[in-house]
Amino acid sequence: MLVSLKQILKIAEARKIAIGSFNTPNLESLQAILGAAEELNEPVIIMHAQLHEDIGVCKLDEIAPIMVYMAEKASVPVCVHLDHGTDFGYVKKALDAGFTSVMFDGSEGGIEENIANTALVVETAARFGASVEGEVGSLGERADGYGDHHGESIYTDPMLAQRFVKETGIDALACAFGTVHGISSKKMVLDYDRITMIKEVVDVPLVMHGASGLTEDEFKETIRRGIRKINYYSNTSKIAAEVIAKKKYTQFHDVVRGATEAIKEDIKNAMRIFTMVENPKE
Ligand SMILES: [Zn+2]
Repeated sequence: MLVSLKQILKIAEARKIAIGSFNTPNLESLQAILGAAEELNEPVIIMHAQLHEDIGVCKLDEIAPIMVYMAEKASVPVCVHLDHGTDFGYVKKALDAGFTSVMFDGSEGGIEENIANTALVVETAARFGASVEGEVGSLGERADGYGDHHGESIYTDPMLAQRFVKETGIDALACAFGTVHGISSKKMVLDYDRITMIKEVVDVPLVMHGASGLTEDEFKETIRRGIRKINYYSNTSKIAAEVIAKKKYTQFHDVVRGATEAIKEDIKNAMRIFTMVENPKE
């Protein structure tokens, strides 16, 4: 069933878990991720990144109707989310297509510009009954998920985060505390206390980006500290490519099936960690 980000993150807050938020740049990743969520009977967020518009897979206008259709017929709560929308026109396109949530990423401009633009997105999304995720601090150079392409994150200032949430009216906040996008070649060092400090001063759920490469214990600690949405993509994409390379398939449909199964397994593993099995559903 199709739900908004606000609704799905309420479930996360009540259970003290994080909801996995996974990129679905094609039909097969969509089938794999929704299949994993249904098998585990867990809510899930599927997302299209503006950055994936030009990687030669699916464009928003091609994949959006399928994302919305499959979310509607899923047996678990599904939020259809725009990942890192950087311009208003693109955000509007996602809302028009029926997305129930959009992330507006205005982190490259100054704070005043980010607040004004994000507030405008919140006002627009409200007309569609959709939620908005905003970002303060920088989560590092955006990854294309196709290589070792990453940058430094600039940590989120808790006081700035408090002002940003208050003045924009967002439903979720992406914050930077050491993770970076993509497959990082160096070990990420996480500032857990920063999550705690931000959580204490804002009243919306917190989001972690750039989660590929974290250990199970690191995931669990970020969730204990208050992370409720985890964006996860690059690692799954890498694993699927590695599985295919090993199999030496000779038919395209076997490649597709092999990749879909590999994605599904990795997503199930991630979802088991994010839902912290020690906090089972009633
Ligand atoms: Zn991100």
